[in-house]
Amino acid sequence: MKNRLYNIHTHIPTGNDAFTEIENLHFAQAASGKTPFCSVGLHPWFVREDNLAASELWLKAHAVLPSICAIGEAGLDKICDTPWPLQESAFRFCIEISEVAGKPLVIHCVRAYNEVIRIKKEIGPVQPWIFHGFNKHPDTAQMLLREGCFLSFGAALLNENSRSAEALRQTPEDRFFLETDDAGEVGIETIYERATEIRGISVERLCEIISGNVQRVFRF
Ligand SMILES: [Zn+2]
Repeated sequence: MKNRLYNIHTHIPTGNDAFTEIENLHFAQAASGKTPFCSVGLHPWFVREDNLAASELWLKAHAVLPSICAIGEAGLDKICDTPWPLQESAFRFCIEISEVAGKPLVIHCVRAYNEVIRIKKEIGPVQPWIFHGFNKHPDTAQMLLREGCFLSFGAALLNENSRSAEALRQTPEDRFFLETDDAGEVGIETIYERATEIRGISVERLCEIISGNVQRVFRF
């Protein structure tokens, strides 16, 4: 049987039959129709005071649909212009929706790891939390792993000097995923190939690991 490749976070699904892709949708964005699986969330970049109520209603209505297999991306971003209280309020709403819908949370986090973990400790969510596009020092990875989180790695792995390669090397096999995010020119097969080099395993073994993680966390 051919190995199935899972792309757990993409904004540009390919529609390739050999892949299972989760297309990420922002507020009011329509699905491309290229994949039956989507995630919906309130991205800190796009949260605004004047559309928060409408976007929360949109999220609540979509979260329960069977095609939605995760909530996100959602999170905190210290270098975007969205006021912090607004970001935090939208993030907390996404956490609540993830818990009520019983679906994992895909997190966008920029320079706010401690803040995200503080909120996680305060709320004590049952659903898995996945830090997507992880590209930080292995120490940050270990801190998140200790808190029970998952990491998803993408195009940064292709960068020779990337810290994420070392972080991936040190991540236990039941705690990671792969993704393309918005890197349209990089296919998920390229990310898989690089991950096999980093971990020193065969593509068959990598496929087995990720397929197991996806089934457990996204419940396919
Ligand atoms: Zn994204």
